[in-house]
Parts: sequence; C-alpha cells; structure tokens
Amino acid sequence: MKRVYLFILAALLLAVTLVSMISSCIAAEPAASTTGTERITEEKTEEKTEKRPETIPEITEAPTQEMTEAPTEPAVETDAPTEPASTAAPQTEPPVTQKQEESTKKPEAHTVDVAPLDPDKKYVAITLDDGPHPTLTKKFTDKILEYNGKVTYFVVGDRIKGDMQEGIVYAHDHGMQVAIHCWTHDHYYNKEPKYYHEEVYNTANKLNELFGEWPTIMRPPGGSITESQLKESEFAVIIWSIDTEDWKHKKNTDENPKSKNIETIVNNCLYDSKGRFNVENGDIILMHEIYENSYDAFCIIVEELHKQGFEFVTVSELLQNPELGYKYYSANKRK
Ligand SMILES: [Zn+2]
Repeated sequence: MKRVYLFILAALLLAVTLVSMISSCIAAEPAASTTGTERITEEKTEEKTEKRPETIPEITEAPTQEMTEAPTEPAVETDAPTEPASTAAPQTEPPVTQKQEESTKKPEAHTVDVAPLDPDKKYVAITLDDGPHPTLTKKFTDKILEYNGKVTYFVVGDRIKGDMQEGIVYAHDHGMQVAIHCWTHDHYYNKEPKYYHEEVYNTANKLNELFGEWPTIMRPPGGSITESQLKESEFAVIIWSIDTEDWKHKKNTDENPKSKNIETIVNNCLYDSKGRFNVENGDIILMHEIYENSYDAFCIIVEELHKQGFEFVTVSELLQNPELGYKYYSANKRK
C-alpha cells in the first residue's frame, strides 16, 4: 500500500511541476509580446524624435526668415501708418523711434561747419538740380569761383559715374555743396515708403561713400514731398523762392532760338512780371545744371547779382544749417 501512496504522491508532484511549468510558459508569452510592443512604440517614438529634428529646422527656418526680413520691413511698415493720417500726433511717434535707431547707425555729421553770415551783406544760394553732367558741372563750379562764391548741387545718384562723377568730385573739392535730389529722378512723394527710402538713401550712401560726409539736405524731384516723409526725414528739405524755369527753355531751334531762351531764363530769375528787380537777400534760386542754355543764363545772372552786391553761398551757409522737419523756401520762409 505504501508503494501505491508513494507512487500517487510522486505522480501528483510531477503533475504540479508540469502545471507550474506550463503556466509559467503561458505567462511568459504575453510578457514577451508586451516587450515587443514596447519596443515598437519606443522605435516609433525614436522615429518621431528622429523625424522631428528634420521638421524643426523647417519650422525654425521660417521664423528666422521672417525675423531677418523684419528689421527692414518694420522700417517700411512703421512708416506706413503715418502716411494716411499724418495729422494724427500719436502716429508720428514710431518714425521718431525709428529715426533714433537709424541715426545711431549712421555717421553723425548732420550739420556742416558754416561761417556766420555778415548781417550787412546780401546773400543768395543758387541751386543746380539733376546733375551731375559730364562737362557742365565743372563749368558751373569754375564760373562761380570767379566770384569767390559757391553753389549747391542736388544730384541724381545713379548719374554719379565716369566723367559725371569726376565733375561732382571736382565741384565738392572746390567747396561746393553736394546734396540729395533722388536716385533715378522718378517722383517719390506718391510712392511706397520703401521706394522713397531707396531713392533718398541710395543717393545719401553714394555721397557718403564719395566724400566721407553724410549729406545734410535734400530736394525732392518737383519739390514734392508728403508731410509724413517730411516729418521723418533726416535731411532738411530745400525748396526754392525763385524758379527760373530754365528746363522749359533748353532748346535752340529756328522757332525757339537759344538767345531768346537765355533771355527768358535770366528774366525769370531777376525780374517779376512787371519788370521789377525781384531778388532779395536770402533767396534760393532754382536752376538745372544739365542744359547749355542754363549755363549761359547762369553766367549773366551771377554777373548781374554780383553787380547788385550779392554774394553766393551754399544752402547750408544761407540757412545756417537748417532744421529737420521743415521745408525751406528761402532764408526768410519755411513751412
Ligand atoms: Zn530734378
């Protein structure tokens, strides 16, 4: 009997061992599959994190581009609000901040050394627009030097090359004032702020590059400038008090002879419609340096003004360094 009991006991033990082995095997299966899933999810996560760096640069690149464009664009955008409502005082503030920022980047010389004027003398500033010119720039300079005088050139930036550049360098070297007119001679008062800035600053940079001096004054083509452009300008804006209208009289034809045209330009400058002498102390005279007739008329005008006791000074001398934010018509009139 004892043997039978021992056999049953051994069989039971065997059965228990088998059951526990089977159950441990069954338990191991899901565990292995779980680790498998975890590994897959880990791999997926790895894939995701590996892929992210690929997409992150794309994302970070985009803002970086926006950011690099930003410094130039706000300069334009901050201008924009002043355009439609230039009378609204609060909106003029952004350009002021911008002006401060820009002025820190640029050379400081926004004034030039000018000798004080003698209150007992009479002065005019003759201004010559639209150059430089291959030959006439130099001729105007030489002519005014005969009177120990100076003129002011408002130049077109993209014409400053070759012999035209030589002409304006000659003028500057002989004490003439060289200032900003525009870059292409396209009117910019009615254009996008960015366009206006390019026209003005391309020319300013060109002059600074040539002479190592930041220009202090500008004259917009046609004398046209908006209030917002005027308020934000880093250059005093110079108009004129006497318009010779020389550009209308540049021809030399049988019907429109040179002598008649020169006479008209001289009369437009010196006399009013009733033939009375019209030039006053402090006047700014507008002429153009690119026409032969203008040069011939200029020779007669300066001779006559000299006889009348006038001296010829640059615009900055006449106005004793004009203030920003104003339009100057003469030494006696600004707006
Ligand atoms: Zn012009």
